Amino acid sequence: AKEKGRNDFQMFNADMKSTSINRLKLENELRRALANEEFVLYYQPQVEIESGRIVGVEALIRWIHPERGLVSPNHFIPFAEESGLIVPIGEWVLRSACKQNKAWQNQGYEPIPISVNLSMRQFFQHNLKGKISHVLEQTGLEPQYLELEITESMTMDVDHAIQSLLELKELGVNVSIDDFGTGYSSLYYLKKFPIDKLKIDRSFVRDIMVDPNDAAIVATIIAMTHHLNLKVIAEGVENEDQLNFLYQNRCNEVQGYWYSPPVDGNELEYMLNHGI
Ligand code: C2E
Ligand code: CA
Ligand code: CA
Ligand code: CA
Repeated sequence: AKEKGRNDFQMFNADMKSTSINRLKLENELRRALANEEFVLYYQPQVEIESGRIVGVEALIRWIHPERGLVSPNHFIPFAEESGLIVPIGEWVLRSACKQNKAWQNQGYEPIPISVNLSMRQFFQHNLKGKISHVLEQTGLEPQYLELEITESMTMDVDHAIQSLLELKELGVNVSIDDFGTGYSSLYYLKKFPIDKLKIDRSFVRDIMVDPNDAAIVATIIAMTHHLNLKVIAEGVENEDQLNFLYQNRCNEVQGYWYSPPVDGNELEYMLNHGI
């Protein structure tokens, strides 16, 4: 049993350049996970610094594996992207997130947007607009309460990205650029993309108090968003010094362990009820 456990662990290594047997096994396991509803969503609050209010949540997938327990997305999302399984998994995430957000509204909570991570394949899939619009209709969620997170790498094919983004804009959903600063998006195109928000990557936030370069980069990104009329949120805020720095530099919203890690639906409701 010990031996088996170790093999299983290797199968879930973030480095998926494993044997084809393992890949096939993982692919089958992921299909089974979808069919058996082994995935759940966790939710991480997005907090307005000044008021301390929860102004949004990001939905983050978890896999409750029958033998291994809670599996982090870093251990299967890269493989799901490679194999194409990210499309049905991503659809499950989108539908579940919209459904949950609508349920919270029906329970009387003040409506807030829910953010969903879109993979490259989803972003460029045929009839993206139709698919998202269908999910919104099915769940009854109004488009302004859905935010889609894309990464800079998805904007490399500029014309295609603009076309997809315009479709999303027509739908009325919000779009943010995740992990901002880690990719290669050109500032020139940034103003051409119909996006709403930048999410400053946590690798910059991590060292703002120790590395003057990171501090300068973060302050500059925030100032830029104000000039471009974009919203901004800082990710990975883990301590009060970082929070104060961000607040002083006019970043209004943060997400990170300082306020809360991603939590299950019940815990999120508890925070909505009692404050964070
Ligand atoms: P991400 O979209 O950048 O999500 C933020 C990650 O940072 C989450 O990891 C979150 O738990 C973690 N995090 C939040 N606050 C802090 C902090 O203060 N300190 C540190 N060190 N980490 C923090 P998680 O949930 O393990 O997700 C990892 C990545 O997996 C996500 O990164 C995203 O790229 C991907 N992912 C998660 N759910 C989905 C999904 O439904 N669809 C797709 N396509 N990708 C997903
Ligand atoms: Ca994200
Ligand atoms: Ca991120
Ligand atoms: Ca990330």
